[in-house]
Amino acid sequence: MGVGKNQFFCHECESSYPIEIYRIEYTDECFVLNCNQCALTLVIIGDDWDAKLDPNKSKKIGFEKYTEESLKPCRCGGVYRFSAPHRCPVCLSAVSIEVIKKQIDWWGTEDGIPGVVMGIAYSSSNCWK
Ligand SMILES: [Zn+2]
Ligand SMILES: [Zn+2]
Repeated sequence: MGVGKNQFFCHECESSYPIEIYRIEYTDECFVLNCNQCALTLVIIGDDWDAKLDPNKSKKIGFEKYTEESLKPCRCGGVYRFSAPHRCPVCLSAVSIEVIKKQIDWWGTEDGIPGVVMGIAYSSSNCWK
């Protein structure tokens, strides 16, 4: 998982802010969830998931639901969701992946995993309940 830096311009509040760009390769097993209230993005490495969570429960409850339920809330009070959009850290407007693609050098994998994750990302070591 390579990381780069870039500037992103928000059309809603007209501010420009630095973003981190994660380039996810096919071979990287990782999961990305945005906070549903603020601009934080959580990147979970597959090994961390394997170490913490029970695959049988995952099968029963559903992978996404089980993962979301097992995570601590965000420090802003929001929760991490697979379906939550990226947000501008200045005005908190949702930013679609299409807008992101237009502004930065977007790179996607063949199986549809977004190659770029933007946000104020933090790693997963302390994210579990
Ligand atoms: Zn948050
Ligand atoms: Zn904004």
